[in-house]
Amino acid sequence: MISYDKTKIREALTTDIVFDMLVEFGGEPQYSNFGIISQTICHNKPGEGSRKLYYYDNTGLFHCYTGCGDSFDPFQLVIKVANIQWGRTYDLNDAIRYVAVRYGINIEADTQNDSDLNDWLILNKYNRIQSLDLKDYHVKLKPFDDDILDKFNYKVKIKPWLDEGISQEAMNLAKIGYYAGGAQITIPHYDKDNDLVGIRGRTLDKSEAETYGKYRPLIIGSQQYNHSLGMNLYNINHSQENIRQAKCAIIFESEKSCLKYQSYFGVDNDISVACCGSNISMWQLQLLLDVGAKEIIIAFDRQFQEIGDDEWKHWTQHLTNLNNKFKNYIDISIIFDKNMITGYKDAPIDDGVDKFLKLWKERIKL
Ligand SMILES: [Zn+2]
Repeated sequence: MISYDKTKIREALTTDIVFDMLVEFGGEPQYSNFGIISQTICHNKPGEGSRKLYYYDNTGLFHCYTGCGDSFDPFQLVIKVANIQWGRTYDLNDAIRYVAVRYGINIEADTQNDSDLNDWLILNKYNRIQSLDLKDYHVKLKPFDDDILDKFNYKVKIKPWLDEGISQEAMNLAKIGYYAGGAQITIPHYDKDNDLVGIRGRTLDKSEAETYGKYRPLIIGSQQYNHSLGMNLYNINHSQENIRQAKCAIIFESEKSCLKYQSYFGVDNDISVACCGSNISMWQLQLLLDVGAKEIIIAFDRQFQEIGDDEWKHWTQHLTNLNNKFKNYIDISIIFDKNMITGYKDAPIDDGVDKFLKLWKERIKL
């Protein structure tokens, strides 16, 4: 029986790793002043629970304020999720192994003189084989009736988006509309089978955007048209055939970037998807593998102000983590605007086609 040191792995679990686990599990986490707020995926399936699962930085513990009513550590969360989502019975050792392997937590340096070292090497080898098994990452989200889309206005011109270079043709294809009831631009999300799985609203009201964020799930009456963003990729319904042929996909953060890509390069050349955030989940990777991608290009916003600042350190670490997470499964390159030719927090495609092509050519491999 392989033994290993739970404490050491626990110490290596940064809040960012815990955040990424929650992304993986479909909890749609958000950072907060005490740690992280997530859906209660401890006792619900993704998309079904409230946002009452809190993670506290200072204790390294979760607390579920509804169903579980209990505190537990990240390994216990893995055990719960394995049961609910994967139909598997994990013990503590399985959970520790899952975390160590998934996040490449390597404690060899600390155990040079430790008799556990050999166990670790064996474990790592075993786990590498295990981790190549992606079969847990297929999911079909529950579709909404797309009659709801008839409620929106498609005649109104969405001038801010047109001004940014998004063509009316791209907006028509994506069924971008306007919901007067919420003063929101409506962005329907489809899965690869072309089923409507969610609708996001983007508010045009500045003060509201500051309070609630620019994007929100659309709520009409008592129905909330949200979905687990990490379990689908926006625009996959349109780009999958091109991705299959090109064997390559480009992953943007936001829906608008896909629309710009289509506007610049045409629907027939569209290989873009949006992960709707700055994380990519294993579900999303699985989806790209399923449609035949052999290579992904990560094209995220420039989230640093100057080389070497704190944001830059955080951002390069984040991209490195993503690279490490996926490199065994797919070829990865990353658009990284080190010369800062685009604006702060701009997507690489926000500042025109020439700059985008330059960044594309200079994309890096880690
Ligand atoms: Zn719970």
